[in-house]
Amino acid sequence: MKPKVGFIGLGIMGKPMAKNVLKAGYELTVFNRTSSKTEELKRTGAKVASSPAQVARESDIVITMVSDSPDVREVVLGKNGIIEGSRPGLILIDMSTISPQVTVEINHELGRRGVEMLDAPVSGGEKGAIEGTLSIMVGGKKEVFERCLPILKSMGRKITHIGPSGAGQWAKLCNQVLASLNLLAVCEGLVLAAKAGLDINKVIEALSGGAAQSWALLNQAPKIVERDFSPGFLVKLHQKDLRLVLSAAESVGVSLPGTSLVHQLYNSIESEEGASMLGNHALIKSLEKLAGCEVKSQVSS
Ligand code: NAP
Repeated sequence: MKPKVGFIGLGIMGKPMAKNVLKAGYELTVFNRTSSKTEELKRTGAKVASSPAQVARESDIVITMVSDSPDVREVVLGKNGIIEGSRPGLILIDMSTISPQVTVEINHELGRRGVEMLDAPVSGGEKGAIEGTLSIMVGGKKEVFERCLPILKSMGRKITHIGPSGAGQWAKLCNQVLASLNLLAVCEGLVLAAKAGLDINKVIEALSGGAAQSWALLNQAPKIVERDFSPGFLVKLHQKDLRLVLSAAESVGVSLPGTSLVHQLYNSIESEEGASMLGNHALIKSLEKLAGCEVKSQVSS
């Protein structure tokens, strides 16, 4: 029989991921702090719980997809948290991007109650969450990973067991180094093209077929050109990830000059009203300020 699944955190990523779990035929109980976000899942057959503790009582495996380390701590170990509704044998899969150190601490705390935990952060953005094609990097015991693989497969395509508790989060931080610098590269290229008076759409088309192709070029450059800064991934969450990366890098004595630069560039726009709630491709705005131009469809100055 399929395990009963619980899902906590129905934001940009969590909602489509939960829908895919439901579509794969799992009995699903959901919780979201802002309760209105549970409506759609309720209509499609999910049960709605009144707290993370109740989700845990109703489930064999609980998935969390919230924002940051303190939020995972709160929904897992806080008042009415998962731990209050837990029993030995329960499995927590935390798919949020958080600190590897905090992950290890929560895993240890849950272990004292006989609860297993995997850290399973994702890459692939809102599109990957909707299409069920996320890349999922997993830390935790191999046998727990294998038991959870069918559920992970309902949300992702490339699913890799990296190592023990925290290893999934370390891999995700590496992912954010690459993703951030790819996005910066795209933004710099687009600003240069705009300043040179080129047709930006033609430049994107030409570059998409060559060695400079990237996820950021294919998925984010077109939104920049359309001046569509609606969020797939919020600037404030990207900044949260960059803080996690830089602090983790410091803990192992590594310098990441490129990643620090992206963090500083976001700082330069974050002070503007509402900027932290834009999509992370708003990074272009910091380079546009420096270059004195705007990247858009028409040939621009
Ligand atoms: P989001 O749209 O802001 O959603 C965050 C969710 O977490 C909301 O459901 C929110 O509840 C809930 N939440 C936050 N703090 C909470 C707390 N203390 N207690 C209870 N619930 C809490 O963010 P998202 O884009 O889905 O991102 C979720 C996670 O995935 C983050 O760790 C992010 O870094 C990671 N991620 C995002 C992307 C992406 O492209 N968006 C890609 C890969 C990984 P409310 O509705 O009440 O606010």
